[in-house]
This record gives sequence, C-alpha cells and structure tokens, in this order.
Amino acid sequence: GEAWEATDEAAAAAEAGEQAAVTPVVAVVGRPNVGKSSLVNRVLGRREAVVEDVPGVTRDRVAYDASWLGRPFTLVDTGGWETDAEGMAASVARQAEYAAQAADVVLFVVDATVGVTDADAAVTRVLRSTRRPVVLAANKVDGAAQEAEAMELWNLGVGEPIAVSALHGRGTGDLLDAVAAHFPDREEEAGERASGEEGPRRIALLGRPNVGKSSLLNRLAGEDRVVVDPTAGTTRDAVDELIELGGITWKFIDTAGIRRRFRRLQGADYYATVRTSSALERAEVAVVLMDVSEPLAEQDIRVVEQVMESGRAMVLAFNKWDTLDEDRRYYLEKEIDRQLSRVSWAPRVNISARTGRHMEKLVPAIETGLASWDARIPTGRLNSWLKELVAATPPPVRGGRQPKILFATQADVRPPHFVLFTTGFLEDNYRRFIERRLREDFGFEGSPIKVSMRIRE
Ligand code: GDP
Repeated sequence: GEAWEATDEAAAAAEAGEQAAVTPVVAVVGRPNVGKSSLVNRVLGRREAVVEDVPGVTRDRVAYDASWLGRPFTLVDTGGWETDAEGMAASVARQAEYAAQAADVVLFVVDATVGVTDADAAVTRVLRSTRRPVVLAANKVDGAAQEAEAMELWNLGVGEPIAVSALHGRGTGDLLDAVAAHFPDREEEAGERASGEEGPRRIALLGRPNVGKSSLLNRLAGEDRVVVDPTAGTTRDAVDELIELGGITWKFIDTAGIRRRFRRLQGADYYATVRTSSALERAEVAVVLMDVSEPLAEQDIRVVEQVMESGRAMVLAFNKWDTLDEDRRYYLEKEIDRQLSRVSWAPRVNISARTGRHMEKLVPAIETGLASWDARIPTGRLNSWLKELVAATPPPVRGGRQPKILFATQADVRPPHFVLFTTGFLEDNYRRFIERRLREDFGFEGSPIKVSMRIRE
C-alpha cells in the first residue's frame, strides 16, 4: 500500500545522499611493469594478484582485504582499469584519476631503475590536481646501489620517495607506515560484537496485541526454566528473560511488556510503538508474530516496518495456525503476497502456540537470520562477482555519461552494508538491481541488506 512506497522513497533519498563510512581504501597506481602487482602481493603476504603487469590484461580481482599493524584496509590494484586504446600515458593517467576519486590514499609506484617517464609525469599531473594524499613508492631498490636513483624521484614533486623492493620486501614496512599515516582516525571496528555484547543472543518477540506473544513465550519458556534478568533498559520496567532453546540460551528482550496486560488499554498504541522500538534497539533479531485467524492489519505491517527500519534480522511467525481452514488459508497467502512482499527475505514459520505446532522450526529460522546478519563477503569474492554483473548489465547512462563502478567493499555487518565506489550517480533502480542480485547469489535470508554508493567527483 501507500505506506510502503513512502517509506521506500524516504529510505532511498536518505541513502543516496549518504557517504558511507568504510575501511580506508588504498589504490595502487603506476604505469605497467613498475611492479604494482608484486607490491600488492607483498603487502597481502600472498601470491594472489596476477603478477604479469601487462596493459590490457584483464584481472579477475581488483580489490583485496589487507591490514597493517592490525588496521584493516582495502587495497585496490588499478592495473585492470585501463581499457581504452588512447595511448599508454593517457590511459595510466586516467586510471590514476579514477583511483584518486575512489581512494583515501593513492600509492603511486615508480620504477627507480628507469626514472621518470612520460607516463609517470602524466600521473603526477593528475594526482596533483586531486587533493588525495599520495605516497610515492620508488620500487626495484633491491640494494644500496639503487638508493641514489630513488632519491632522484624527489623531482616528481609529490613528496618523499620511499625506497622499496617489492621483490625482496625491503622497505615495505616504512611504506605502509607512510600509507597508514593518512588513514582517518580509527572508529569502532566494524564486524565485532562491541564490548558488553557478549553473552546470549538477543531476541525481540513482537506483534500487535493478542497475536499470541505471551502464549508463545510461555510455551517456549515452560515457566520453571525462566530466569528473570532485570535490565537497565530504556524502558523503565523492561525485564529480559533467559530461555534455553535447542541447547542454547537466548535472551528475550523486554518480556515484561509482553506479560503485562496494561498495554491493551485504550490509547496504548503509541506506548506499544515506543516499547517495540526500544526492544528493537537492544535486540539483534526480531520474531514478528502474526495472527492468521484475522486478516493482516495495518498494525502488523507497522511492526514489520519498524523492524526493517531498525536494521535487525527478522523472522515472520504466523501463529494460531490451528485455526486455519482452506478458505482462510487462501486469503492469507494473498495478503502475505500483497502486504509483505518487501520482506520476502524473512524466513517464515507457521506455528501454533496453543498446540505447539512447528515450535522446533523457530530456532533454526532465528539462527539463519542471525548468520545472515553477521555475514561478510570477502572483498575479492565480492569484486569478481560485481565485475561479471556489471559487464553483463552496465549501469544506465545518465545525462550522457555512463557511471563506472570501480569496485565494492562490504563496509559493515549487522546488517550487511555494501558500498559501491563509482564515478557518478547510480539510479535507484540500478542499486536495487544490485541488491536483488546480491540476495540471489549470496542469500542473506533473514537479514536486511543495504547498498549505498560513494561518489568522488
Ligand atoms: P499477546 O497479546 O500477543 O501476548 O497474545 P496472548 O498470548 O495473550 O494471546 C491472545 C489470545 O490468543 C489468547 O486468548 C490465547 O489463548 C490465544 N492464542 C495464542 N496463541 C494461539 C494459538 O496458537 N492458537 C489459538 N487458537 N489461539 C491462540
């Protein structure tokens, strides 16, 4: 209905303007044969990048997960970006321009034994015009003999040349120190459960009044096994319960709000919304309960929307399945198709708190949602996937220009958040297309995912 579309548009608008926080991106630029790929391999400490530094060689992978002194960053090998037949110097300069657009730090590699070439000079001009920090690597300094040659690269005017040997590893520590000095201040590490987040995983049991929340809670808990855990939550009288299911202890958030009856009083609507959002804030996954004995209500949809906005994992539980007849079942499926199509990624369980039907399916569904919520796709895998996708279906031309997607990283988990580094604005339709394909190919069942872009003008 209307509400869905309005929310969708608002979210898209908010996302379009957003500059996502990501791990720092370091792009390696330089003309062919200076040793870019060897240096990338050296930094990665493995032999994964294609070493052959030949123009026009298409590489499968352009971006890698790397780290220096415990600080993660994305290392981008720009070697594969040159595609036009406009001459080597020009295409290397173009490549450097893209790199500077997308990266936080540019690692400019020059062959010290050859000295400054036309292509190096062209790259230098491009890099000077950007305000991106540049670290200059004077490569192939395998011994003291080449040190003087390295110092001649001061003449480029992009700062101190750092003498390295990608082949032997000489000087790469100093080089990475220089690169890391330009990283933005370290933020909370993405992907780890923050301190104080250890312990049982946290479930919010949600749904409008009378859908069967307290019946389900009672059935799951079997009263005697319940441990009441008073929590200093945002809701004054929030009470969490630890319940063991399938051999694992789970924390059910704000069960006081479920077990009490006052929520059903007139005017409790606003109160319920506030309570739901404060429970969601502390939860990792939401089980949204719906009552199949009645048509899906606006209030049910509102709860689902609240979960979507919270970015939490979600399981849809259709309760009172014992009341269902053929007729009602037919209409229920129609209602679900019509009103819940935007959360078709959420696992669905058809249960009865009264009879205990399919109780055993609840925990696996919750675990699926949490696993998706936590999931991280390695940068290399993500980019080989993206490369194929974009080759088959390039972004539409906009204002006479075709935006290029340079590479992507997964910036965050809980929920998974992907950032596309682009040279121009991607239409919402195209972003949604990528989101859909991410789901088709990687799953993420039970978790929302987010796709945003980072444009460098
Ligand atoms: P809450 O407001 O969401 O906590 O809902 P309650 O657990 O209080 O349940 C509301 C009503 O639905 C009560 O009369 C329950 O007995 C009934 N109920 C709950 N679960 C089921 C079920 O699976 N089948 C049937 N037939 N009734 C149920």
